[in-house]
Amino acid sequence: MNIGFLGLGNMGGPMARNLLKAGHALTVFDPSSQAVAGLVEAGAKSVASPADVARAPVEAIITMLPAAAHVKHVYLGQDGLLANVRPGVLLIDSSTIDPLSAREVAKLATAQGNPMLDAPVSGGTGGATAGTLTFMVGGPDSAFDQAQPLLAAMGKNIVHCGDTGNGQVAKIANNMLLGISMVGVAEAMALGVALGMDAKVLAGIINTSSGRCWSSEINNPFPGVLENAPASRGYSGGFGSDLMLKDLGLATEAARHAHQPVILGAAAQQLYQSFSLQGHGGLDFSAIINLYRRDPEA
Ligand code: NAD
Repeated sequence: MNIGFLGLGNMGGPMARNLLKAGHALTVFDPSSQAVAGLVEAGAKSVASPADVARAPVEAIITMLPAAAHVKHVYLGQDGLLANVRPGVLLIDSSTIDPLSAREVAKLATAQGNPMLDAPVSGGTGGATAGTLTFMVGGPDSAFDQAQPLLAAMGKNIVHCGDTGNGQVAKIANNMLLGISMVGVAEAMALGVALGMDAKVLAGIINTSSGRCWSSEINNPFPGVLENAPASRGYSGGFGSDLMLKDLGLATEAARHAHQPVILGAAAQQLYQSFSLQGHGGLDFSAIINLYRRDPEA
């Protein structure tokens, strides 16, 4: 297929490469010339604006942008996608944004004859490179069926979550729980060690008991418990604390609109907010345990 791709960053770059590897032709745009150069080298054609992507003979356009403001600018701006795209071209936004913005943009796209899906991902940059992302997809059945082969070139699990916006709902609900569970594991690990327990033994107990979860088992925040976890390499790599803060902000903001309480989600957001303010936003989100440790170097 001929596909347009906008947003060639840490996630979009490797996702676009996987589409090329699967034999699709790509027309790409990103304001970063460095990001574009890598893709052109891999076989993509670059153009100068979102409008040029929309005017190219593409059958589908995928966007992978930082936040809702970028998505609105790229889709709704004068030089943007909707003002220039042919009716019938499938639009897929894989950025993580709030469900209300996703629904607003999709409504305008649908009204002018462009089916649109929200399709945020989980799996991080490792999953983007390996082509094993999970796609949480919101939108009409027909558009979902049309998108399946494209998404399959970039991911392993492709889940239809329901109507427009529900992909974003699934993503922010899951990530809010992840943020809360990481804070919970950090609190429990720090308490156990402060009371005299060996961190590895405690993690072993938790991971064969009822406290077990992804944050305790796969990304345990205590250094030395898991050899390959970010905690054992100074919290480098992994999922940045500022990205977790962004997702917790999306969850609490969506909750505010729906008059829905998210008591622990809001508490986790505040913890990540203060952690970020202390200059640690670039560390893996498991580093939040340092808020609880008297001697974080030990
Ligand atoms: P990134 O900052 O690395 O990449 C974003 C890219 O968008 C950049 O190359 C930037 O130049 C480009 N961009 C900005 N404005 C643009 C415009 N007007 N037109 C075209 N391109 C534009 O971010 P990322 O880590 O790739 O994340 C992208 C999205 O994926 C975010 O919404 C993020 O929340 C989500 N996400 C990230 C991860 C992760 O681990 N990094 C995991 C899951 C989801």
